Amino acid sequence: MKALAKLKAEPGIWQTEVDKPEVGPNDVLIRIRKTAICGTDVHIYKWDEWAQNTIPHGMVVGHEYVGVVEGMGSEVRGFKVGDRVSGEGHITCGYCRNCRAGRVHLCRNTTGVGVNRPGAFAEYLVIPAYNAFKLPDNIPDNIAAIFDPFGNAVHTALSFDLVGEDVLITGAGPIGIMAAAVARHVGARHVVITDVNPYRLELALKMGATRAVDVSKQNLKDVMKELGMTEGFDVGLEMSGVPAAFRSMLDTMNHGGKIAMLGIPPSDMAIDWNKVIFKGLIIKGIYGREMFETWYKMASLIQSGLDLSPMITHEMPVSRFQEGFDIMCSGQSGKVVLNWY
Ligand code: NAD
Ligand code: ZN
Repeated sequence: MKALAKLKAEPGIWQTEVDKPEVGPNDVLIRIRKTAICGTDVHIYKWDEWAQNTIPHGMVVGHEYVGVVEGMGSEVRGFKVGDRVSGEGHITCGYCRNCRAGRVHLCRNTTGVGVNRPGAFAEYLVIPAYNAFKLPDNIPDNIAAIFDPFGNAVHTALSFDLVGEDVLITGAGPIGIMAAAVARHVGARHVVITDVNPYRLELALKMGATRAVDVSKQNLKDVMKELGMTEGFDVGLEMSGVPAAFRSMLDTMNHGGKIAMLGIPPSDMAIDWNKVIFKGLIIKGIYGREMFETWYKMASLIQSGLDLSPMITHEMPVSRFQEGFDIMCSGQSGKVVLNWY
């Protein structure tokens, strides 16, 4: 079957032919319809240090997708051929303490689809049926294809109560922008988002941010004054992985503020811990999505009117994958979707 794989230890991604994956007794076989390119795929494409240390030779990458169940193992219950699905890309062990306690997103033995095991940029994907999420009919394919990063946004944004709160989001990448949309949808007051990329700040405004701040041109504290914010943000969602952005968040949080951290810093990150201590801040790290509570909430958010369609700025056949990666690398995009058939 056709697949996109990391065939060489250098920047790039290549189309190739690989064997159709084998279906184990607990697995589903998914025929992929659409995939989206994730920031992680861009790291793999660019072959940065993390990718070099993580991605095995020849790995079929990708983990954002929608497809249709075409087969399943003998032990699978609850799915049938023809079901439209997306899937949780974190494969968990099922035997560690957190798995057994139902806190599956905290599994210490997590492996990643398209990172540690063959991914979704292929005509077929095999995952444990446990990880497949059956999609309600009224969720369109291209929205379902971005459920994985949408889930990061939902998990992070819904970590703390946002109703009537002032929210700061640092980083208007696709995930930060979707988090702004969620925050607005569930009733936050000010949803202020920062970035240094005008294209993305513009998209964030379209998606529901109440104020988009280019921190290369404008001071966040001045913006807060303009908004009449005399104390500080109640909730912070760190979605850039940029140390300077996190520091500006610590500076502008109100006392007792709560921070959910999704962005992955490039290495050790120094902060002024006195700000955390004397403001009594609560900081929560976020990894992946809650299984499967986040998935049900995603579906409900879409069904209750959250419109993610402006997030998908580019859609093209998979034969144009190179153009898709170039666009993602440029930063001049929301999500880029590749169609497989
Ligand atoms: P992205 O790289 O597209 O977005 C990051 C954004 O931060 C970019 O738009 C960039 O311009 C912006 N930025 C740069 N400097 C900034 C500054 N000083 N202030 C504010 N913003 C600034 O990434 P994404 O795909 O939207 O993901 C967001 C973050 O979450 C990344 O760090 C990613 O690695 C991380 N991530 C974490 C998980 C997890 O499970 N914890 C999952 C997916 C992604
Ligand atoms: Zn586990």
